[in-house]
Amino acid sequence: MIVVASSNGSIGIEAAIEILRQGGTAVAAVEAGIRLVEANPEDNSVGYNGYPNILGEVELDASIMNGRTLESGAVGALKGYLHAITLARQVMERLPHVLLVGEGASRFAAEMGHPPQPEMMLPDTRTVWADRLRPELGQAGLTDDDIAHIASRADLARWVELATDPERTKGTVNFIAQDKAGNICTGVSTSGWAWKYPGRLGDSPIIGAGNYADNRYGAAACTGMGEMAIRASTAHSLVFYLKMGLSLAEACERAMIDLRDLGGRFISVMNLVAIDKDGNHAGFSSVDGRTYIYQTPDMPECEELARTVVPIPPRWG
Ligand code: ASP
Repeated sequence: MIVVASSNGSIGIEAAIEILRQGGTAVAAVEAGIRLVEANPEDNSVGYNGYPNILGEVELDASIMNGRTLESGAVGALKGYLHAITLARQVMERLPHVLLVGEGASRFAAEMGHPPQPEMMLPDTRTVWADRLRPELGQAGLTDDDIAHIASRADLARWVELATDPERTKGTVNFIAQDKAGNICTGVSTSGWAWKYPGRLGDSPIIGAGNYADNRYGAAACTGMGEMAIRASTAHSLVFYLKMGLSLAEACERAMIDLRDLGGRFISVMNLVAIDKDGNHAGFSSVDGRTYIYQTPDMPECEELARTVVPIPPRWG
């Protein structure tokens, strides 16, 4: 039994491992761990108080995958509800679908009895949102009033490119759990890329991109520039490399090299966590200094480990 997470999962990992200690399922452990991260206002990349899109609206993406059955559920661009991971689990368990987005996701949250959360940000975070736009838009002659009414503008694509800072504004939480029965589950939740174009989905709600689990081989989840993981099908590729007989370290490295080989104009940071079917774990990143955490039932607290670096030279524009 084990729980592995991105380092911002530290607030939830004890709850997750306790569920496994008590004989609970990997799915329950992943959901419980991620819910605590989603509720943490100090994390500006997941759930409540996440950085918003360019219109100042928090849009959440999440997914969950059950490695026993390969069933999965996901929500994207969810507005007005906090626990995207629970909703993703309900998509998996209550509907014949895998992915709900936007209004349909909110409608389903209401149907499932989730409490509405009309204000998803603290006032300070709203100020950060406006401060980020002001210099760029101000230079073009726009006023604070224009920023307040940015939703009515027809030139958002121009501004989203100006306002986006790939290094500063990203973040996501990954959880992978393996329970007593050997079943693996992966969960991912994020408020996505801040100041993003409305409706933009990253890798987090895309099964195979930011999240994949298969009991027979292992599991993987990503944080970083979601567009890259979508293009390279990173989480699925990593598990596929395990299926082809590569070791966990080799599979992670191969998945990172696939990302490094991507062409095009927009290449940034990518991080992944993974386990194999035997519960061995690994964390990889394209940059120095990134860590991940893991905990087993006998450990009183989680341990934080450095991620192995496979450099990916950034390109932007
Ligand atoms: N992967 C997330 C996304 O692209 C963001 C992140 O992890 O930094 O939405």
